[in-house]
Amino acid sequence: MRHVLLLPLFLGSLLAQTHGLVDAHVHHNGEERFLQDLVARLDKYDGMAFLLVKPEHLEQTARFMAAHPGRLIGFGDVALDDPDVLAQIDRFHKAGFRGLGEISRTRRDYNDPAYTPIYDRAARHGMMLLFHTGIVNRTRPEVAEDVSVDRLRVTLLDNIARRYPKTVIIGAHLGNPDYSWAGEIARWNPNLYFDLSGSTLIKKQEEPTFFKSIFWWSSVASPHTPASKVSAFEKVVFGSDVFGGELSEFDASLERYRKMLNACGVSAEAQANIFGGTLRRILGGAR
Ligand SMILES: [Zn+2]
Repeated sequence: MRHVLLLPLFLGSLLAQTHGLVDAHVHHNGEERFLQDLVARLDKYDGMAFLLVKPEHLEQTARFMAAHPGRLIGFGDVALDDPDVLAQIDRFHKAGFRGLGEISRTRRDYNDPAYTPIYDRAARHGMMLLFHTGIVNRTRPEVAEDVSVDRLRVTLLDNIARRYPKTVIIGAHLGNPDYSWAGEIARWNPNLYFDLSGSTLIKKQEEPTFFKSIFWWSSVASPHTPASKVSAFEKVVFGSDVFGGELSEFDASLERYRKMLNACGVSAEAQANIFGGTLRRILGGAR
């Protein structure tokens, strides 16, 4: 009986904090059907998604977005080592895309000078950058590939964030497993945020309060940490990392975020920012 009474209360607060939700990390699988299903999912929350789009799907997606305004924010899913990358970035920008990513599987370290023209171009266009950080999958182990997690280390984002203070950077996966480093560089770089997509919230599900040790500086007054009135957890933004059309991961990810944030005692106000408020403000021009 108790549960029956509590359920509507729980759902009410869940909806309040996820109304206007922004999902910072959704991979387009190239199928128009997926875009339709995604928009239907977002309608429930009056939500938006950062949609990561390969160059070959640019036209299709731009057409769809024009017909379904207000739900999808385009990100150009470019490969930094592609010789055509600068022209691709310009095309994405011209089509109204607001960011680049998920940047991953690079041949060099993320902060290598060879990528400076790319970050310069993104900064000139005012585009955000979404980087994969940490461990990366190997779905076809029989195929040789020139990939290394060492080039995707979360600490490499610190240098990029400092060099491009006006560029908003989102690191995916909280640096898995370098969570401490991710938290510390987010603490000092106001233009750097992280999503908690991937295996991290599954790995840590038996100890959700672990994240309090990463986002530790809420209401700490000290010259050794930047002054801030908001919860340290507000360096986190919601991201589901839906890929291959698997929209069930959107629901599962939302549930995992909720469980962890509630276990850590993160306020409703901070959760509203994590689930969309922060990114809506960034999209509107303020940080
Ligand atoms: Zn990733």
